[in-house]
Amino acid sequence: MDKQALRDKYRQERDKRLRSDGNDQYLQLKGQFAGFVEDPYTPRVERQARHDHVTVAFIGGGFAGLVTAARLVEAGIKDVRIIEKGGDFGGTWYWNRYPGAQCDTASMVYMPLLEETHHMPSEKYAHAPEILEHCQRIGKYYGLYDNAMFHTEVNTLEWNETEAHWDIGTNRGDKITAQFVAMGTGPLHVPKLPGIAGIESFKGHAFHTSRWDYQYTGGDPSGAFMENLADKRVAIIGTGATSVQCVPHLAKACKALFVFQRTPSSIDVRGNKPTDVEWFDKMATPGWQQRWLDNFTANQTGGEVDEDLVMDGWTELSRRIRAKVLSLPPEKMNYEGMMDALEDSDHEKMDEIRARVDSIVTDKKTAENLKAWYRQLCKRPCFHDEYLQAFNEPGTYLVDTNGKGVEKITERGVVVEGKEYAVDCIIYASGFEVGTEPTRRAGFDTVGRGGVKLSDYWAQGMRTKHGIHVHGFPNAFIVQPTQGANLISNVPHNLTESGKTIASIIKHTLDGGYKQVEVTREAEQEWIDLLLTGPGRPSVIGSPDCTPGYYNNEGQAMTAASKLSVGYPAGAVAYFDYISEWRESGNFEGLTLC
Ligand code: NDP
Repeated sequence: MDKQALRDKYRQERDKRLRSDGNDQYLQLKGQFAGFVEDPYTPRVERQARHDHVTVAFIGGGFAGLVTAARLVEAGIKDVRIIEKGGDFGGTWYWNRYPGAQCDTASMVYMPLLEETHHMPSEKYAHAPEILEHCQRIGKYYGLYDNAMFHTEVNTLEWNETEAHWDIGTNRGDKITAQFVAMGTGPLHVPKLPGIAGIESFKGHAFHTSRWDYQYTGGDPSGAFMENLADKRVAIIGTGATSVQCVPHLAKACKALFVFQRTPSSIDVRGNKPTDVEWFDKMATPGWQQRWLDNFTANQTGGEVDEDLVMDGWTELSRRIRAKVLSLPPEKMNYEGMMDALEDSDHEKMDEIRARVDSIVTDKKTAENLKAWYRQLCKRPCFHDEYLQAFNEPGTYLVDTNGKGVEKITERGVVVEGKEYAVDCIIYASGFEVGTEPTRRAGFDTVGRGGVKLSDYWAQGMRTKHGIHVHGFPNAFIVQPTQGANLISNVPHNLTESGKTIASIIKHTLDGGYKQVEVTREAEQEWIDLLLTGPGRPSVIGSPDCTPGYYNNEGQAMTAASKLSVGYPAGAVAYFDYISEWRESGNFEGLTLC
């Protein structure tokens, strides 16, 4: 392997894609595009505005809301209201119903509360309908439907000092008060469109993958054949994790499919299989899911473990790196030696992934264009066993844009390098807002003690203790991975732990007859100081050397704020140990109650 040549190639490919407009290259789904975000799945029912009080309001009905509410119910706190903009629970899995959608982390660890709700995932990587149904199962099992409000968006959230509660306003005219509020509004839930010249002029049909239009395509979320596309020429723009999952279905159904690619994804082996019921019954002894979660996290983050229960692409990635590092001679067991080993291991993997393209895709030029020239963690790694094969289907064409993106959209179709591809339908697999202002993505700002807005308090970056508590925002909790375990390979594990923690804090506050709980300024600062002693973001994820994407702020320089987008310095396993001890000690050190 000529390391330098490979590094040069990676850099050339990155440079081709760097653009000065970063996140501004994307369009918000407003004005002419507002219809793109309407809910195609559940009719909106008119209802009276509500004016009432709840003990806990949770904003967001995805995994974060469900697991936190479940733990609250288990703790005996039943007056929990989930407020959700979709028509049901599910969050990501409510919206993303495109054909082929499935989880990329093994179901046994990805799907929360399996043991509690007695569900066996049917496949190693469950498909979206099963995950959505599981969200509904959690909702029913814990009685969360009765108090929930769907198709409701919070638009004001303000701490009321006199009453010591939160005032919540919504787009349905509700005025609700809550003693405690928690938020799990999700990192990737606002769809975006590429800001391609002429995008507004297209006269055919168009939709975003997160609002799949089955009325137009035929078929259904289970992957049924999309019969209406048999006479259609279809363009799909984008080749990220979503496109990788739906292209095989489109390739089978469309008269002609044009896949417009700016940067290829890396596509490793998927290896999905049905769950063996007998094996599951024997394995699922009490505490099984926690054992799997702990085992996955330890394997994935390079912890000390004898076995790998999950055996997937994520744990293989870490196993490979560990083996490489352990094979180093004693004189190379230093920082440089390890970075070298990491790079070698990455180059080997990416060579394997590129060779896989050649072994599957028959057209040589297409195969060449489907090869990813960057380190594996520069962009979201993908795993699939039918995506590359789809390019062998007659009528499926890869239109590579040489890193430049689509040039223009006309009323008839899509233009690349001066050539117009006339199509009946454009499907935007163009992803979701990540690097934009958190308040823009949430749709509201949180106003804490003394009228301080969260957006102002966080103007120089996120400030929390445990990624959950913010000083000046009493009785409020945030449920997400950053400044906590930051375990990106299995986000739900972060959420279930936060859910447990928040439930025990709220129970402790209520049992003690307290009205308020809040992190002290000092405790918040100590946590930030601790986070900053860590290695920062992993050397590859988010590196400016990477080809641009949402992992590295579209290739723009990292800001002071992004330095705070980190996790517990000792890693996810240590964080989970720490937080469980912190919670179980009952001292809730760093919080004040009054
Ligand atoms: P992404 O942001 O990953 O992909 C958007 C795609 O649109 C990219 O290929 C991007 O190219 C392309 N694009 C943007 N602008 C243009 C343009 N002007 N011309 C041509 N192409 C363009 O969105 P996804 O919806 O695929 O995935 C988002 C995230 O959601 C994933 O990374 C993953 O975290 C999650 N996800 C998880 C799944 C799972 O776990 N099963 C499944 C699907 C998604 P470029 O790369 O050059 O920017």
